[in-house]
Amino acid sequence: MATTIEIEDTITVGALAEKLMLPVTKVIAELMKNGVMATVNERIDFDTAQIITSELGLEVELQHKSEELTAPRHKRAEGGESRPPVVAVMGHVDHGKTSLLDAIRTSQVVKQEAGGITQHISAYQITHNDRVVTFLDTPGHEAFAALREHGAQLTDVVILVVAADDGVKPQTEEAIRFARKAGVKIVVAINKMDKEGADVNRVKQQLSEHQLLTEEWGGETVVVEVSAKTGAGINDLIDMVLLVADVEDLKAAVDVPARGLIIEAHMEQGRGPLAVALVEEGTLKSGDFVVAGATYAKVRNLESTTGEKLAKATPSTPAQLTGFKALPSFGDEFHVVANEKIARQMAEQTDTSRRSDTSHGNMTGGELLRIIDRTHELQNLNVVVKADVQGSLTSVIDSLRTLEVSEVAVKVVGSGVGIVNENDLHMAHTSNAIIYGFNVNAPSNIKQLASRDHISIRTFNIIYELIDDVKAEMTKLLAPEIVEHELGTLLVKGIFKITKTEVICGGEVTKGKLTVPALARVVRDKETIAEVEITNLKRGPQDAKEVFEGEMCGLSFKSSNRVNIEEGDRIQLFTREAVERTI
Ligand code: GDP
Repeated sequence: MATTIEIEDTITVGALAEKLMLPVTKVIAELMKNGVMATVNERIDFDTAQIITSELGLEVELQHKSEELTAPRHKRAEGGESRPPVVAVMGHVDHGKTSLLDAIRTSQVVKQEAGGITQHISAYQITHNDRVVTFLDTPGHEAFAALREHGAQLTDVVILVVAADDGVKPQTEEAIRFARKAGVKIVVAINKMDKEGADVNRVKQQLSEHQLLTEEWGGETVVVEVSAKTGAGINDLIDMVLLVADVEDLKAAVDVPARGLIIEAHMEQGRGPLAVALVEEGTLKSGDFVVAGATYAKVRNLESTTGEKLAKATPSTPAQLTGFKALPSFGDEFHVVANEKIARQMAEQTDTSRRSDTSHGNMTGGELLRIIDRTHELQNLNVVVKADVQGSLTSVIDSLRTLEVSEVAVKVVGSGVGIVNENDLHMAHTSNAIIYGFNVNAPSNIKQLASRDHISIRTFNIIYELIDDVKAEMTKLLAPEIVEHELGTLLVKGIFKITKTEVICGGEVTKGKLTVPALARVVRDKETIAEVEITNLKRGPQDAKEVFEGEMCGLSFKSSNRVNIEEGDRIQLFTREAVERTI
C-alpha cells in the first residue's frame, strides 16, 4: 500500500526530502537527472514533486493539501439562478468570425458614445428579446485553447462559422475538436450566404463527415444560414443559440463570493492596470477585495466592457475593473475574499510559487515529462514576443509552446504588452533571439538600432502567419534528413587491381542501373564489408555514365581502408540526399 503524503502547490526541495525521508542530495540528484536545477531552499511545483517521487520508485502518493489560503478549485456550486449563455465564435480564418461578431454587436449592443470607434473588447453582452447573451471576442482558437489549459470551462455554446463558398477547412475541424473536447454545444452558422458560389448542401455534407448531422438529415446539429455582410439570418442565429442554451439549463449561484476568470488585462493611461473579469459565479461589486493570480485589487470603477458604470456584475457578465496592484494574467482565476490581508497573502503565495517556477526555467510537470521522454538533444529557437494586449500575448505564447518537436523548441526569452522597445532589443541581442510583434509595431529609431545590431523584428496581425514564420525558423534548426536512393547492384566477376585505397574490378549489373558518381556498399554473404565511393564506370574500354541491368562493366572505387574484394561479392550502388525537414 502506498503511503499518502500531503503537500501544497509548491514545496522546497529540502521539505520534500524530509517528507520522503530521503537525504536531500538524493532528491537534488534525481531533479538534476530530470533537467531541473534546484537547490535545497528552492521550490518545485506539485507536478514536479510527483514526477520525482515516482521516478524514485517510492511507495508514496502525493496529494494536494487543502489549505485555507489555497484558491478554491473550479467547481460551480449546484443550483442557483438562471444565467446568460457565454458564447464563443470559432472557425477557419477569413470565414467571417470577426464580421459576425461585429454584425451581432452593432445590430444589438447599445450604441457606444465614442463616435462608433470599434476598439478591441474581449467580451460583450447583447439583449435579444429581453434575454441576455454574452459573446467572447477572443483572438480565436488559441485563446480558447489557452483558457482551457488554465482549467477553464468558460464557454457554453460555440458558434462554428463556415463560409458557404469555402466549406469545412482545417481550422473548422480544429474548432469542432476543441468544442467536442470541452463538451460545448455547437451551433453552425453558414456565413457569406450573399455570395455567389454559396453552396449550403456541400457544407452540410462536409459537416456530416464530422458527425455534425443537421436536423433535416436526421441529426441534432442546429445550422443557421447567415450573412455577416447583409445581416440576414443574424436574429435567427441568436434565437437558436438561446434555444440550445435553454436545453442546458444554465444556472449559477448569485449570493456567494464572486469567482471567475480574467479574460483581458492591460495598462490604461491614467487608470493603471485594467482587467476584464468574466464572472462565473456570485456577484462582484465595487469595493470587493479580489485576488487574481499573483496580484489583488480593491475593486474600483466597475464597468461594462462598453464603459457603462455597473453597480454589480452577476454570473456570465464581463466587467472591467481597476484597482489591481499589478497586471493580472489572461486566464487567471479571480475570486473575492473577505479582506485585504487575505487578498495580499494569497497573491504573495501565488507570486512565490510562480517565481520558484521561473527559477528553474518555468518547468511544470508536463514539461518535465516531455524532457524525460526526450531522446534527442534539444535546440532552442529564442524569441521575444510583444503584443497589443495581454490576451493576445498569452495566446501567442501558448501557441508557440505547442510547436515543440523532438529536436527544436521555442524559448520565449522575453515578452510583454506594448510596442517593441530598447529593452526588447537588448534581450534579443544577448540571447540571439528574433523579436515577434503581434498587432504592435516598432518605432523607426528601434528599427534602425535593430538593423545595426542585426536583430530581426517581425510584426504580424494574423496569428497563423506569425506561427508559420516561427515554424519556418524552427525548420532551419532541424538537421536535414538523409535519404538514400538505391541505384543498382554489380556482381563481381573479375578483379583487376587492388591498392590500399583503390579497387578496379568488373562484373555484371544484376539489378537496376549503375551511375557515377555514387556511393556503394560492398556486400559479402549478406554482410556489408565496406562503404566506398565509385569513381569510374567503363563499358568495354569506354568510360560510361550509366550501365544497365544485364550489361557487363568495369568499375573503380575509392575507399579509406583496403578492401580485399573477391569474386562473388556484390557492390550495391546508392546516392545520399539531404532533405530539408518541415515542422
Ligand atoms: P475571420 O478571419 O474569420 O475573422 O474573417 P473576417 O470577419 O475578417 O472576414 C473575412 C473576409 O470575408 C472579409 O473580407 C469580410 O468582409 C468577408 N466577409 C465576412 N462575412 C461575409 C459575408 O457574410 N458576406 C460576404 N460577402 N463577405 C463576408
